[in-house]
Amino acid sequence: MKIISRLRDERFCAFCRSPRRLYVKKHVDLTNVLGVLLVTGALTHVLWGGPDPRGVVLFMTFIVTGEVFIYLRWRASIVCRMCGFDPLIYKKSPERAAKAVNQFFKEQAENPAFWMSKSPLLEVHRRLKEDEKRREDVAAVRKHVAAKKANALASKGGTAPIARSAAPTRPAATKSP
Ligand SMILES: [Zn+2]
Repeated sequence: MKIISRLRDERFCAFCRSPRRLYVKKHVDLTNVLGVLLVTGALTHVLWGGPDPRGVVLFMTFIVTGEVFIYLRWRASIVCRMCGFDPLIYKKSPERAAKAVNQFFKEQAENPAFWMSKSPLLEVHRRLKEDEKRREDVAAVRKHVAAKKANALASKGGTAPIARSAAPTRPAATKSP
């Protein structure tokens, strides 16, 4: 048991690299134990007028409650609030951690407050959208070039009418007057 342990610290998320302040204290430290000892000692004296075995029960209750609280606070704090990455789950199963990040993103996509945040996931999302658009553009250009080639080849072979139909045609927009 440490005499005194640091409560919070500045860390970087291993997944999205966002800097964040989190609780690093995982267990009660010696200073907590001494503090609880003092408090329960005083309480025991006030309640029962001297040393009393019930004081020990009180002391144990406080320590266990404190330990549970500190541990759960630490456990909740290590999950990145920017991307939902959980290093503890990752250690056990990277796939599950990846699923959790996906899930987090899906949930947060509908949360306006998240879009105002500095989460790097937003940048990822934007990049994915851009990539998708670029891929579509490239596919369209390729299609166009292929059609042109086919057209040229076909006109050499004298089957122009068939080839012409392979030329890129804009989808006939349903024009409304
Ligand atoms: Zn993160």
